[in-house]
Amino acid sequence: MPPGGYAVVNYHGVVPSDHPEPEVFLDGNLVQPEVFRRQLQFLKAHYHIIHPEDFRAWIEQGKPLPPRSVLVTCDDGLLNTLTDMLPVLRSESVPCLFFVTAASSGDCPGMLWYEELYYLIRLGGLNGLETKLPPQEGPSPVADTFQARWWSTVRRASRLNAPERADWMTLVRGEVGAKHNFGSEKRWRLLNVAELRLLSDAGMSIGAHTLSHPVLSLCGDEEAQREIHQSKSELERALGRPIWAFAYPFGNPATMGERELRLAREAGFACAFLNVEHWGPGPTNPFALPRIHVTANTTLPEFAAHLSGLHTRLQRAMGS
Ligand SMILES: [Zn+2]
Repeated sequence: MPPGGYAVVNYHGVVPSDHPEPEVFLDGNLVQPEVFRRQLQFLKAHYHIIHPEDFRAWIEQGKPLPPRSVLVTCDDGLLNTLTDMLPVLRSESVPCLFFVTAASSGDCPGMLWYEELYYLIRLGGLNGLETKLPPQEGPSPVADTFQARWWSTVRRASRLNAPERADWMTLVRGEVGAKHNFGSEKRWRLLNVAELRLLSDAGMSIGAHTLSHPVLSLCGDEEAQREIHQSKSELERALGRPIWAFAYPFGNPATMGERELRLAREAGFACAFLNVEHWGPGPTNPFALPRIHVTANTTLPEFAAHLSGLHTRLQRAMGS
């Protein structure tokens, strides 16, 4: 097992049945439902899948976890988590901790803005609208690929506050034309509050994932605090229950740092999760909990190697 005796696996949803042609880049985080089922069955056979509330009791009260504990989590709250992922979780009797943005505390959540931006740029380009964004911080992207240019734009737009960014997205949408159609709603739309309650009523736990999913390290102090604190209060109001866990958007050292760890603690969360398996030297910080990021390309042997800690030990042995 990894250090600490437990592991946390992280998903971003499954490929819904009405989304037949995965987009190689953005869909790389989604797994096929049958692959997801086999991974859950592997965990049930070799590990002890715990309920998120058991994890909370361990973090808050020190109640011991069973040996070989694994917590299953899923970020973003796309509609397919309810329509295509929940049925698999239910039939395998596996509980999951879902991290959703505060957009899912409302009736019209829309899409993740950076995914929508990817498609809007693909469909029509920005036609100069990027000049309305704050300048790029640091060096320009190394590779001049579509994805590198898109990520550079995501970073620049993350420096706007959420309402300004929403206004800028409206401009981009207007430039491309109102009639763009992304196909599968289950793939792209976020859960609305009624759907979020269904997930919660099905016995799943809900955590916070900011208001609008920016690159937090590029937000000003006040905006970063608002994104983290208000996502907790808005979801608590929508669900009528405490929100005790937080997951950092993108969740890697390039998108967050010590300030975000402090803000998550000050917001009153019991713990906060990364999307990577390592965070600096020293003992594990409850506000920088590592997770194993499962992607479309993760084979079952790789999944097993990440769970057993073998992957980490190999990386350390190789000095990376
Ligand atoms: Zn996310």
